[in-house]
Amino acid sequence: VLEKLVKAEKLQIVGHLAASISHEVRNPLTVTRGYLQMLREDVSPQTKVKYANIALQELDRATDVINDYLTFASICPEKMERLRTSAEINHVVNSIKPLASKNGIDLKISVFDDEAYYVVGERKKFQQCLFNIIKNGIESMSEGELSIHLLHAAATIQIKIQDQGRGMSQEQINRLGEPYFTTENAGTGLGMMVSYSVIKSMEGTIYVSSVQGEGTCFSLNLPIHAHESM
Ligand code: ADP
Ligand code: MG
Repeated sequence: VLEKLVKAEKLQIVGHLAASISHEVRNPLTVTRGYLQMLREDVSPQTKVKYANIALQELDRATDVINDYLTFASICPEKMERLRTSAEINHVVNSIKPLASKNGIDLKISVFDDEAYYVVGERKKFQQCLFNIIKNGIESMSEGELSIHLLHAAATIQIKIQDQGRGMSQEQINRLGEPYFTTENAGTGLGMMVSYSVIKSMEGTIYVSSVQGEGTCFSLNLPIHAHESM
């Protein structure tokens, strides 16, 4: 009976998720469709570029929603494994380079591959978590530098992600991780919810320090997994 209950609960969760995803994805798709349709009309080249940019932005938003929901809901369960922190950071940095250069942001990474510090977690989820925080940092700036440092103490590893963006008020900081909290036009408000849940699943903590008009630093603290046992 218990097993059946658990299954019914799971089905219910999947049902809720399906409803949320289709709602959250349908809006950007509808907007994209509208702008593509307008592109066929007789409009100036500048207007065409504007319409195409909006369509692309909305498609990106649909992709963000799907990635964040899938990560959060563990639709694709992964195994917990030993992850080389520097390798995961470098992987995410490479995938986000195009966004940084499009926005004119310099990425400064002081993460050394020869220092092997391991953490335990689900690889794709950890990558999604880092990606969401770095992406927010890039989006908070109109110019400047985003830096990533890797530090370590006896039993913990610290990943510091510092931007020179607009910063946050205390009220905004308090609301971080709350689903659908966003101040962005094309935001989903799901990114930080995912990042917090991933770090929690890895038995880590997230600290935020932020000064409005100066920038924000996210620091992720995770237990080091030193042994080859996994
Ligand atoms: P989204 O990026 O879709 O808005 P997130 O959950 O990723 O959703 O972030 C929620 C909100 O937190 C953002 O809309 C923004 O207001 C704030 N935020 C997160 N990171 C930063 C940052 N590095 N600098 C300034 N504001 C931030
Ligand atoms: Mg975000």
